[in-house]
Amino acid sequence: MSDQSLLRVGSIEALREATGRWRAAGETIVLVPTMGALHAGHLSLVEEAKRVGQRVVVSIFVNPTQFGPNEDFSRYPRVLEADLALLREAQADLAWLPGVEIMYPEGFATRIEVGGPSGGLCGDLRPGHFSGVATVVTKLLHQVQPDIALFGEKDFQQLKVIQRMVHDLDMPFDIRGVPTLREPDGLALSSRNRYLSPEERAKAPELHRVMADLAGRLGAAAAAGPLLCEGLSALETAGFRPQYLELRDAETLASVTTASRPARLLAAAYLGNTRLIDNLPVTPV
Ligand code: AMP
Repeated sequence: MSDQSLLRVGSIEALREATGRWRAAGETIVLVPTMGALHAGHLSLVEEAKRVGQRVVVSIFVNPTQFGPNEDFSRYPRVLEADLALLREAQADLAWLPGVEIMYPEGFATRIEVGGPSGGLCGDLRPGHFSGVATVVTKLLHQVQPDIALFGEKDFQQLKVIQRMVHDLDMPFDIRGVPTLREPDGLALSSRNRYLSPEERAKAPELHRVMADLAGRLGAAAAAGPLLCEGLSALETAGFRPQYLELRDAETLASVTTASRPARLLAAAYLGNTRLIDNLPVTPV
């Protein structure tokens, strides 16, 4: 496929025309939802999409309803032309670029609330966030009607919320997670990393380092509590303002006190004004 073939689509009619053609030809369609400001982490999802299907749709929409009133919606990076160049290079088939008038037309009055994995962690700290995510992802899934949709494990709670919702509401989409892509020093790639000052960027990998150390020890620990306290202190010493550092069941995200089943260590911490999140698997030993 030539790198000229990226379709840039802004209307539901044109989207359905392309996806309808592909579906009729029996091609597997994979959706990668994003908010743009694409980096190698997003592109690893596109790469995986190309592996598991024939047609790759990448949506770009900075969703206002998943940002809180004091969050970074207005300053969130918007670099559409650079994003499209990256998608051409990655040989995605279609960039789905819905305007706000398509996503939230006048009179829009529906919101999806997912319980279970939305509880605690980012769900408590960012009220309305997962409801905003669930609502916009539901719209994107119904617009594109992919066979498969890929989400990064980087946003592990989001992945679990979407999987729960799709299961609960019998939506016929296969939701798959893709492992977190990291910088060589361990920092998880994120569109928000560009907010970090050079000094903060130098400190940022300490989040992953502290978590990796803990994740290794939690698998064999009789009780997670003391290790989590130790981890919080280590993060504070390194200059972070941690919001949470918790061990959860890897499937349901219920709180657990030991990793007797596969678990996940999840953290959110501020470094200066930038909020970083990360998570790692914890395997029982
Ligand atoms: P965003 O544009 O931040 O909404 O992210 C779009 C998708 O890319 C989400 O499913 C994210 O979890 C995923 N993603 C973001 N950063 C990474 C990363 N470093 N590795 C893998 N996936 C990522």
